[in-house]
This record gives sequence, structure tokens and C-alpha cells, in this order.
Amino acid sequence: MQDTYKFKGMRKQLIALLRQDERITNEAIFEAFDQVPRHFFLDLVFAEQAYSNTAFQIGAGQTISHPVTVAFQTQLLEVKRGEKILEIGTGSGFQTSVLCQMGAKVFSVERQKELYMKAKQIISHLKFTPRLVFGDGYKGLPGYAPFDKIIVTCGAPEIPNALLDQLKVGGIMVIPVGEGKEQTMKRLIKVNETTFDQEEFGTFKFVPMLEDKVR
Ligand code: SAH
Repeated sequence: MQDTYKFKGMRKQLIALLRQDERITNEAIFEAFDQVPRHFFLDLVFAEQAYSNTAFQIGAGQTISHPVTVAFQTQLLEVKRGEKILEIGTGSGFQTSVLCQMGAKVFSVERQKELYMKAKQIISHLKFTPRLVFGDGYKGLPGYAPFDKIIVTCGAPEIPNALLDQLKVGGIMVIPVGEGKEQTMKRLIKVNETTFDQEEFGTFKFVPMLEDKVR
């Protein structure tokens, strides 16, 4: 896959669109969207559309999240350089790469082998070095915990306890929660080992977070 002036120009247009969304204010997010070639994460036939604000099939019946959704979740996460971030649902690897570009130490879990393999290839081609794990995100990654931040990019029927445990005190988790086709975007701040502050940020549509379905 090639990056070209045309694709760079399309990225600028996408960033202009993101800037119109007043919820997204972190300059580092716009910078990351400028640097990470989103079309690398889509099949060649879709490359032209990589910079429109839509979700796409990435194989295995899964989708790459809307750019605005990626930007908004990243905004809620308040990413700072050097932070240890756990992502559940690597999918295409685009969100993972955005977090890497922002200077985070990223750990990302994907339950589908096909997507895990694809993402691994593209991410290493882009010279990012997150730790990618093929496994069940419900369990988190206890061996690497605790995390400063946790981002879940699939719709969780409920908030997995393992993830609450693996968040640092003072840490932030952003997770879409809901049983049906729609979820409520939630942000949790861990106040102490047993107390979490919770805020809600509207309705989104994610593919479901499935437990014990690693394949
Ligand atoms: N962050 C991704 C979004 C992909 S869609 C991107 O930028 O493209 C959500 C992904 O979550 C899918 O790839 C799906 O397979 C994965 N997923 C669903 N349940 C999971 C689980 N329990 N553990 C890990 N990944 C899961």
C-alpha cells in the first residue's frame, strides 16, 4: 500500500471535518489522524473511501470504527505520552496506531485470528510497536496490568470486572455499554480500588463484545 499526495490531501479534509465536531479538541488527535494513513487499514477497493466518515467491513464480519468515533473515544481517554493503554478489539489496528502515534505504550487484544494477523502486519509496516495479543478481551491482560487507561472498541453487554481491576487508581476507562444494537458511551474514572465515577456520552453502534469466543 502506498501513501500519496492525494491520500494526504484526503486526510486533511477528514481532519477539517473532525474539527467541526466541538467535542474533539485535543490537537494531538488531529496530528495523529494526519500521520496515520487510514487507507492502509482497509481493503484496496475501499481505499478511496477511507477518509469519509463511515464504518467499513474489515473482514471476519467486523468493522473499522467511524473516524469521528475513534477521535471521540480518544478524546475521552485524555491520552498522554508514555501512558500504558489497554485496547480491547484491535480490529483493523487503526485505533491502536492512533494511540501509538500519540506516544502511548499500547497493548491491544483481538479475539479473531484473521484480524489479529492482518493488523499485526499493517502496524509493523507502519513501524509502530504495540503489544498485540490474540485472546479474549473480557479477561484483559493481567500480566501487564495495571493500565493508566483502558479503551474498549466493541459493545460490552456489561463492564467486565477484570478490566475494572486492571485499571490504575486515577485511571480512565472508555467503554460502550449495552446489550442490544446500540450502546451508551461511558467514561469511568477509578477513584479508589472500589469506587468509580461514571459519565455518559450518548449513543453509539459497535459490533458486540463476545465472551469466550476466541477463534
Ligand atoms: N478498534 C478497531 C475497532 C474494530 S471493531 C478499529 O480501529 O478498527 C471491534 C473489534 O472487537 C472486532 O474486531 C471484534 O472481533 C473485537 N472483539 C469483540 N469481542 C472481543 C473480545 N471479547 N476480545 C477481544 N476482541 C473482541
